[in-house]
Amino acid sequence: MPHNTKQNESMVIRGSVVKVRRSCGKSQCKCAKGELHQTWALSYSHQGRTRMIALRDEDVPIVRKAIYRYREAMKKLESQALQGIRRLHAAIKAAKRRRR
Ligand SMILES: [Zn+2]
Repeated sequence: MPHNTKQNESMVIRGSVVKVRRSCGKSQCKCAKGELHQTWALSYSHQGRTRMIALRDEDVPIVRKAIYRYREAMKKLESQALQGIRRLHAAIKAAKRRRR
């Protein structure tokens, strides 16, 4: 995670924060007996594959905010794109009416 707070505040991230349970691989650990460790990860898809990045606890709130920012920006862009379609449609219909 970048330490620069300004960068964190404008960062966007696509994906979702998920809880993962895993074993650390140490044979003496409780996880070897099935009591798995719980950690957080960012799950995202890229080029048709789902990928995971393990997160540190301190990354989680920053990543969640960046995901929220991405989703809000996408909503805005989607609504602008639909508005573009409506305008195009209206212009084509208006031109047809003028020709009659
Ligand atoms: Zn363990």
